[in-house]
Amino acid sequence: MDRIRNFCVISHVNHGKSTLADRFLELTNTVPKEKMMPQFLNAMDLERGKGITIKMHPVRMNYQGFILNLIDTPGHADFNYEVSRSLAAVEGAILLVDATQGIQAQTIYNLELAKKQNLVIIPAVNKIDFPQARTEETKLELAKLLNVGPEEIFEISAKLGTNVESLLKAVIEKIPAPKGDAAKPLRALVFDSKYDSYLGVIVYVRLMDGSVKTAEKIFLMQAEVSGEVKEVGYFKPELKKGEILTAGEIGYLATGIKEPGKVRVGETITIQNANVKNQNYESLEPLPGYKEPLPVVFASVFPENADDFESLKDALSKLKLNDSSFTYEMEQKESLGRGFSCGFLGSLHAEIVSERLRREFGLNLVISSPSVVFKIINQQGKEFSLFSAADWPNPSQIKEIKEPWAKVEVITPVQYMGKILEILEKLRGKSIETKYFSEIKMILIYEVPLKSLIAGFYDKLKEVSQGFASLSYEILDERKADLVKLEILVAGKKEEAFARIVYADELYQEGERMVKKLKDVLPSQMFSVPIQALIGGKIIARETISAKRRDVTATLSGGDYTRRRKLLEQQKKGKKELKEKGVVHIPPQVFLEMFKN
Ligand code: GDP
Ligand code: MG
Repeated sequence: MDRIRNFCVISHVNHGKSTLADRFLELTNTVPKEKMMPQFLNAMDLERGKGITIKMHPVRMNYQGFILNLIDTPGHADFNYEVSRSLAAVEGAILLVDATQGIQAQTIYNLELAKKQNLVIIPAVNKIDFPQARTEETKLELAKLLNVGPEEIFEISAKLGTNVESLLKAVIEKIPAPKGDAAKPLRALVFDSKYDSYLGVIVYVRLMDGSVKTAEKIFLMQAEVSGEVKEVGYFKPELKKGEILTAGEIGYLATGIKEPGKVRVGETITIQNANVKNQNYESLEPLPGYKEPLPVVFASVFPENADDFESLKDALSKLKLNDSSFTYEMEQKESLGRGFSCGFLGSLHAEIVSERLRREFGLNLVISSPSVVFKIINQQGKEFSLFSAADWPNPSQIKEIKEPWAKVEVITPVQYMGKILEILEKLRGKSIETKYFSEIKMILIYEVPLKSLIAGFYDKLKEVSQGFASLSYEILDERKADLVKLEILVAGKKEEAFARIVYADELYQEGERMVKKLKDVLPSQMFSVPIQALIGGKIIARETISAKRRDVTATLSGGDYTRRRKLLEQQKKGKKELKEKGVVHIPPQVFLEMFKN
């Protein structure tokens, strides 16, 4: 065990974690040169396409007689659960800071997570090769943050490999070997998992005590489920079959369990006979596991083709193994059939999950724009949660409405402060504190409604600061809100799927926007179609799509006047009937467009 080191690389997004991991992989000959490609550990198609790390990625390296287990982590706030789970499996972390950006919001956030786990932190300033690198200033910033001398901070270029080897040596020197007892019964912490159609659920584990081999009977202490180990091994970074895993190691177990729902991250795996009521079992405590993250935004996910409902259900349960931070619950909608209401850690998370469902499971989906959860207190004083506008009660039943608030911390170079304050002010929040973070950087702390935060704030912030400002946020509490349900009538018929919850003082604006948008996306019909926005029975905005004239006489040649007349008469009658029935066919693409907001 004293020859093992388990560590993570953490940082703000884009500070060079995956690139540093590349250099480690090369240096340790873990990946042969001809196979090497930039950000090698970003193995998912989606990660390569987007150029960001979404998942944690463990890899085992051999170096000078040591086993080094590295976990590369994502930097974006929506994937923090990946970071916190990685941190619980290791003893130390390299904290990377980009010399052209300095400390950013997730630098601080992720550092706090690492400190909570009592990890040894090795700080390094990266990208020193850049002409615009501010290496000295960044070192001072970081030294102040960590309360260490600047000489303790590494200066590296992950791209060129400068000082990367001495950083790896520091990992061996400074990060302690794992503790644990190989002679005790097995206790393995599940920190990630995935589904394999041959091997069943594959769990990624950190062994705290004991050992485990192929063909052994195992027992999941929380789920109280048994399994048989089909295979053990480690990450090279692809799964590589091994003989045995022992205390202190990081690797995987194929459990043979075929129901994905039985396995959760944070689970403790032990061996079956530890389960019998003997001395061992009495003293065998499950590991503390993880606190489940609370979803903060919700969106509805429906299969485009109603027949795909079962496939979607199956896909969600399998994807959940590999991303335990989303939640799902069945939901039914008149316009869209059966689907799921899903909870996510942020808007990017929602986008990534739906994209994975498309790519990895071949599903075509209709997804609503993410929304927050409102709390309603009715006249009887009863409180309940609302996930969609469809469930909004009659206003006369509502005594009070509450919405979630968040505390936002924005770190920005001083020159962008004015513009950022402008957009922060529009979020209907309140300023808590504005102060210098360093000589050139400000930190702006605000409390804002989560609803306005998730509606494009991140993109605006990046835009006005040319990518230099960064944010982190946490959910605070629920506060009173003045919200109303905006409804939409198409040809006089209420279309529940278009209803929205909006702030009372933005009602007219929103109503106008919605009817205009619908007018643009809804194909014209045989008769003119009024589109109206409605609030509590009062129409506040209106547009009309004019009738489409289909020339029913086009196929007639010559001057058959009576025949032509007859056809036109028939058309008129048909239109009248259609109009009386008020049937407007709304194609699924229109729901999709409106859903996207
Ligand atoms: P991550 O999000 O922290 O994993 O960052 P990546 O490793 O994906 O790197 C983000 C970007 O920074 C990529 O375009 C890298 O090529 C670039 N990069 C990373 N390290 C260095 C470095 O040391 N020097 C330079 N010039 N670019 C770097
Ligand atoms: Mg990365």
